[in-house]
This record gives sequence, C-alpha cells and structure tokens, in this order.
Amino acid sequence: MDYLPIFVDLKKRLVLVVGGGNVAARKVGLLLRAGAKVRVVSPAITASLQSRCDVGQVEHITAKYEASHLSGAALVIAATDDMSVNRQVYEAAKQRGVPVNVADAPELCTFILPSIIDRSPVVVAVSTGGASPTLGRLLRARLETMIPHSYGRLAELTRRFRQPVKKRFKTLSQRRHFWEGIIDGPVAEMVYSNRDAQAEEALKRAIEAANSAPPAKGEVYLVGAGPGDPDLLTFRALRLMQVADVVLYDRLVSPQILDLVRREAEQIYVGKKRAYHAVRQEEINQLLVDLAKQGKRVLRLKGGDPFIFGRGGEEIAGLADEGIPFQVVPGVTAAAGCSSYAGIPLTHRDYAQSVMFVTGQLKDGSVDLQWQALAQPHQTVVVYMGLAGLDIICKKLIQHGVSSDMPAALVQQGTTVSQRVFIGTLNNLSQLIREHEVRAPTLLIIGQVVQLHQRFSWYQPTAGCS
Ligand code: SAH
Repeated sequence: MDYLPIFVDLKKRLVLVVGGGNVAARKVGLLLRAGAKVRVVSPAITASLQSRCDVGQVEHITAKYEASHLSGAALVIAATDDMSVNRQVYEAAKQRGVPVNVADAPELCTFILPSIIDRSPVVVAVSTGGASPTLGRLLRARLETMIPHSYGRLAELTRRFRQPVKKRFKTLSQRRHFWEGIIDGPVAEMVYSNRDAQAEEALKRAIEAANSAPPAKGEVYLVGAGPGDPDLLTFRALRLMQVADVVLYDRLVSPQILDLVRREAEQIYVGKKRAYHAVRQEEINQLLVDLAKQGKRVLRLKGGDPFIFGRGGEEIAGLADEGIPFQVVPGVTAAAGCSSYAGIPLTHRDYAQSVMFVTGQLKDGSVDLQWQALAQPHQTVVVYMGLAGLDIICKKLIQHGVSSDMPAALVQQGTTVSQRVFIGTLNNLSQLIREHEVRAPTLLIIGQVVQLHQRFSWYQPTAGCS
C-alpha cells in the first residue's frame, strides 16, 4: 500500500493554503466543509475567495509566502503556479513536521487528497495514489450512484440509538444481527423515502421488542421500470429491485430489467390478457396485500410510470386500506422515453405549447375521448394503447377539424434494441400498421412536432429497422 488512508479532524484547526487561484479556491471549499480555519497567503485571490474573505470565512494575508506563515498550522496546502514557491513550502513544512500537499506534484506531498463521496457522517474516499486521477474520478462516479444520498441521515439515526441498543443487547453478535436487520430492512427504507419520524418510531419499537431481530413487517414498492432500456431506471428503482424478497411483474417489463432484480427474489408473472382485466387486477391487488402481510418486501414492477395508465392507484388502494406501508417510485413514462429515443420533442416553441397523454382504450374496450379538446391546434397528442382503436381515433380527429395530413408517429418497443419508428399522417397510419405488422407495445404521437423526427432522430437500435 502506497498510502495509508486516514480521516483527519480539522474542526477549528488552522490550515494554511498558499496560492489564491482556482485550485486553491477548490481546496479552501473542501477545508471549510471539514470545519477548518483557513488562512490563505497570496498577493492576489480569485473573486470567489474574496467573497469568502468578505464574510469572514477565510483569513487572507496579502503577501508573498514566507515560512513564518506556517506558524500554528495543522496542515498546509500549496497551490501556486510557481514551482519554486511550492517547493519552499514543502521543505519548510516537512522540516517542521507539518503535513503538506502540493497540488499536482505527488513528489512534494506528505499526504494526498482523495476523491470523496460525501454522505456525512459517512464519507468514502478513493485514491489511485496519483497513478490515474481519471480512473479515480470514474470510480467515484460509480460509487456515487450506488450510495443513496440518505445514507448520511441513516447513519445519524443509528448514531442516536447506539447506546440504547448497547444496553438492550449484551453481546456483540446480537447487536450486529440487530443492526444488520435495521440497515438492510424497512427502517432504512423509511429513511431513504424521507419518512424519518416513522423510521425512528420503528427503530424504537424494534429495540423494545423482546427478541433481537426487528419485527417482520412487509412493505410494497410500486416501482416504475421505464419503457425498456435498463439505463433509464432510477437509482431508487434499482436499489429496491436489489432488496426485494418477491417481485410481481408484467408484460411490459423487459427481460434485461428483470435481470437486475435480486437473484434470490421469487418472481411472479402477473401479465394480463386484455379480456380478463377486471378479475386479474383484483387478484394482483390482493396478492400484494397477502405477500406484504407475510412480512415480505414486495416489489411491484411496472412498465413506464406506475401512475400513468399503470393502474398504480388501484394497486395501492388495498394497501392503504390495510395500513400496509408502501412507496411509489416514478419511472420514465412511454411518452417521455419513446419521444426522446425517436427524436420527437413533445413540445417545441414553434409547433406545440401543450401535450396531452390519453389512453386509446377504456375498461370495456371502447374508445371515448374528448375529441374537441384533442383537436386543438399547437398541441401534441400522445396515445397509449392506441393500436386497437387507431382507426376510430384518426377518423374522429379528422371529423373534429384536424387536417388529415397531420403528421403522426408510431413508436414500437421504444427505447429498446428492437425499437421501430414509422412516420405517416392521420390518413395513412392504418396502412402503415398493416404493411409493417406493427404490434403492441406501440405509442402513437400526433402533432406537428413529428416532422422534427427526420432532423433529430439519433437512436440506432441494434435490432429492427427505422
Ligand atoms: N405505465 C406505462 C403505460 C402502460 S399502458 C407508462 O407510463 O409508460 C401500456 C401502453 O404504453 C402500451 O400499449 C403502449 O402504448 C405504451 N408503451 C409502454 N411501453 C412502451 C414502449 N417501450 N414502446 C412503445 N409504447 C410503449
């Protein structure tokens, strides 16, 4: 190991920064976050440093560096563009036993500053020992995505309860078992979804409960999985997918996304056939309640966004009535995903100032929309589940004053490697569907914005055609 990572407490301690440019300013920002008292020595300083001086955050000595400036410093950082000055700082600090760091000069450092992921009080530090700052940054970015922002609050919560837990559980292994259940369980989930007061109550209850494990109480995560491309999942969706005990998914969830669910989770397919909606939906609602009551963490994974033509509201109604905890995680809805990947901006100042999302299919299979409202000019209309009723939709729009030449796009399996985009007009959409055997899931986009596809199309699916 080239360097031993340590974390230094700099609260109220003096740190000398030699130099007043942008690099120095960045280091000063970092030092202030760690609570240090910062003294900057430099004949001139940046505007951002000046504003820190103005509010008394930083002491500025307007002078060239001299060894005497080191007096009282717990650490020193040199970031001037004059290597001879940097070297002087290094020599003087080393002689006095003060740890020193010279920006971009590893040979003049007795300590180095790692890349950090700050979820205070949790802090993760990454260093490549100066071998590859780029690799360090990439690694840091990867870790950033894996560590929820609320880890800091979770750590604060556990800190407050360390003593009570120590009193309650005598052995180390009991305590460890207890904390694992908390940090990997519903209490942590409550913190992640900003229900801190509830989390605190649940933690207190868990401590009071006689046994050393937290009480098993199931939860349901209603999660939007987006339109297909796994890269469009949210961080929260991915995290919940990796802690679930059981997953209920349907036809619209792509296999690549399902692959990201925790391997040990039981998978239940609840895909629906169009004709059996009513009965099946009730069964799903009941299943969610039953599984949660068994103490399981239930992931209800839905295509797109659960609250946009996803019956999300129906699925959580039973949970709300039964007092079962749940959370809803939004997903990229088909309209957003398909329009982006087809290069069709849904609004555009030259063409459309509003956009409407409608379903082409009612519960009983019929189509009944507010045609007058849909036929307004300067508007984009996005139709979900529009294939079956397409003929009626086009006919009604034309009847209500929309030009039969109005551009329209069909986006089949949008955002996936099988995406297909067909551009036509209200007049010839049916023909396009027949000719190209367009199948569900397909999204229909109607409006002048569709013309932009030709210029803005950027996504090249690896299968299918465009
Ligand atoms: N909750 C989902 C919509 C479910 S309704 C969401 O927010 O996206 C099902 C309809 O959504 C399909 O009939 C189709 O019109 C549309 N859809 C969903 N995913 C799609 C995709 N990848 N490509 C095209 N259309 C899609």
